[in-house]
Amino acid sequence: MIDSNVSILLAQTSGIVHEVVSGLNYQGIEIETGFLRSNADLIKAYRHHHWDIIILNLDHDEFNYLKAIRVIQRRKAQSRIIATGRLKNRDEVNRLLKTGIHEFIPITDPVLLEIKITQNIEFALLRKRTRELEHDLNYKSQFIAKISHEMRTTLNSVILLSEILAENRNRSLKDDEIEYIDLIHGSSNNLLDLLNKILDLSKIQSGKMNIQLEQIDVKDFSKRFSRLYIPVAREKSIRFIYDNKLSEEQLIKTDRIRLEQVLNNLISNAIKFTKKGHVKLKTYIPSKNELNFHKLDQNEKMIAFEVSDTGIGISDEKIQIIFESYVQAEGQKTENSFGGTGLGLAISKEIAQILGGKLTLETLYGEGSTFTVYMPFNSQKAVENKPEVDVVKVLKKDKTKEVKPLPKLKKNSKVNILLIDNSTIHNMALKEFLSVVVKDCITAESAQEAYEFLNSDHTFDCIILDMYLPDAYGKDVLQKIREIDHRKTTPVIIYSGKTISKTEQKELYQEAMAVVQKNVNSYKVLLGHLGDMMREK
Ligand code: ADP
Repeated sequence: MIDSNVSILLAQTSGIVHEVVSGLNYQGIEIETGFLRSNADLIKAYRHHHWDIIILNLDHDEFNYLKAIRVIQRRKAQSRIIATGRLKNRDEVNRLLKTGIHEFIPITDPVLLEIKITQNIEFALLRKRTRELEHDLNYKSQFIAKISHEMRTTLNSVILLSEILAENRNRSLKDDEIEYIDLIHGSSNNLLDLLNKILDLSKIQSGKMNIQLEQIDVKDFSKRFSRLYIPVAREKSIRFIYDNKLSEEQLIKTDRIRLEQVLNNLISNAIKFTKKGHVKLKTYIPSKNELNFHKLDQNEKMIAFEVSDTGIGISDEKIQIIFESYVQAEGQKTENSFGGTGLGLAISKEIAQILGGKLTLETLYGEGSTFTVYMPFNSQKAVENKPEVDVVKVLKKDKTKEVKPLPKLKKNSKVNILLIDNSTIHNMALKEFLSVVVKDCITAESAQEAYEFLNSDHTFDCIILDMYLPDAYGKDVLQKIREIDHRKTTPVIIYSGKTISKTEQKELYQEAMAVVQKNVNSYKVLLGHLGDMMREK
C-alpha cells in the first residue's frame, strides 16, 4: 500500500508560512504538520518520527538553521530541507544551497510560497512512491530468486534422470519410450533456460547482477564462436563466418561470461532466423562518427562485435518490442513459430548497458538483421558508476566452472560416499548418476541426519555437502564434520546451488577439496573430482 500522507515540520517559520501550509489542500492527501520552537526540540522531533519536509526560517534570531541541517544530516533523515526568508540575491541563494538546503523560497509572495510548497509535496510523494516500488521490486526479485533456485535444483535432477533413462542401461525401454524421455529431457532443458533468463532479468532489475571483470583477448575470445557455431550452421546448410578486422591483438577488460551470453544469444538467434546465406560475426574498432551516431561517448575507446545475418529480418512494428522483456514474454509466443522465450534480447541489452556499452539493431524485413554490441575497452568505470551492481574481481580462472570431459572410470567397489542435501529428487538423481563408479552412496537430508551417519560405524571416502541445508549452514556443517570425522581428512566437496563469493570460496577451500556450483554440467564436474580422488586412492 502506498502511504499518501505527507508530513511537514515547521521550524520557527513565520506566520505567512503557517497560514499557507495550514490552508493547503493537495489532491485530498493528508498533510501532517509539526511545529518546532528551538534547536533542542529538533532532535526530539526526529527521534520517533520521519518528516518528509522540513521548512526552516532563516530570519529567526534564536534558531540556528545550520545546526538544524547538521542534525538532520547526521541522522541521515531523508527530509527535503526548505529554507524560507526574506528575498535573497542569486549568490546568497547559491551559498545556501551548498549548506545542504534543497530549496530556498522567499516569503514575499504567498501565492509563490503556496506553489513552491505544493511542488515540494509532490516531490515528497513521488519519492515515497519510488521507495515503495523499489522495496516491492526487491522483495519480488528475492522471491523469484528463491523460487527459481528451488525449481532449478529439481529441473537439473529431472534432466539428469532423463539422461540416465535414455541411456537404456537395461535395454528394457522401447523406441517410443525413449522418444518420450527425449521429449522430457528437451522440454526440461527449455524450462531451465527460461528459468535462468527470468533469474537474470530479476537480478538485473534488482541491481544484483554479479559482474566479474577480467582481461580477455578479443580474437581468442571470438574464435571460440566459430568452433561452436560452424557445425550448427552447417546443419542448416548456411555458413558461419568470423571476420576479424582488428589489425593487432586487442585486450579488453570485461565480464567474459556475460559478453559470451550476449553474443551466444545474438548468434543463435541469427542462425535460428536464417534459412539461406550466412551468419557473420565481425570484430572491429568503430569510428568516432559511428559512436556519435549511436549516442555513445566518442572519446571512449570502444570495440564492436557485429552479428549480421541474411535471414528473415525484423518488421518495423516488431523492432519496437523485441527489446522489451514483458511485452515479449506476454503473448508473442503463439505467433512465434520458432519457439523461444523472447527474453534474450532484453537481457542482452541490459548487460551491454551495465558493462558501459550498447546493443544496436539495423534490419530490413526480408533481407536480414545486424545486431552490434559496442563495448568499452575497459568496463571498470561503467561498473563502478553503478553502485548497485555487484562487482567481483576475478583473481584467477575459476576451475569449478570448467567442464572436464566425462572421465572414464571403473567402478570402485571400495568407495563410499555420504551425500548431504535436502532435495530428495536431487539425491536420487545424483545417486543414480554416481552409481556408475561408486559402490555405496548414502544420502542424508539434513545436517542432523548426516551427523548421525558420521557418528555411526560407517566410514566414508568422500562427503558431498550442499551449502544450504534446512537445519544448518554449510560452513558450520563443515566445521562439525571435521570435529566428528575421526580421520579428520575425509575429503569434502561443497556443492552449492547459490553462487559462492570468491572470498567465501577461498575460505571454504581451506577445509574442502572442491567447491562445485550446481548446474546441468555440475554432475560431470563432480564426477571429475571423484575420479581424481579415486585415482589417488
Ligand atoms: P527468443 O528466445 O524468442 O529468440 P530474443 O529476445 O532473443 O528471444 O528474441 C526476440 C525476438 O526477436 C525473436 O523471437 C524474433 O522474433 C526476433 N529476432 C531476434 N533476432 C532475430 C534475427 N536475427 N532475425 C530475425 N528475428 C530476430
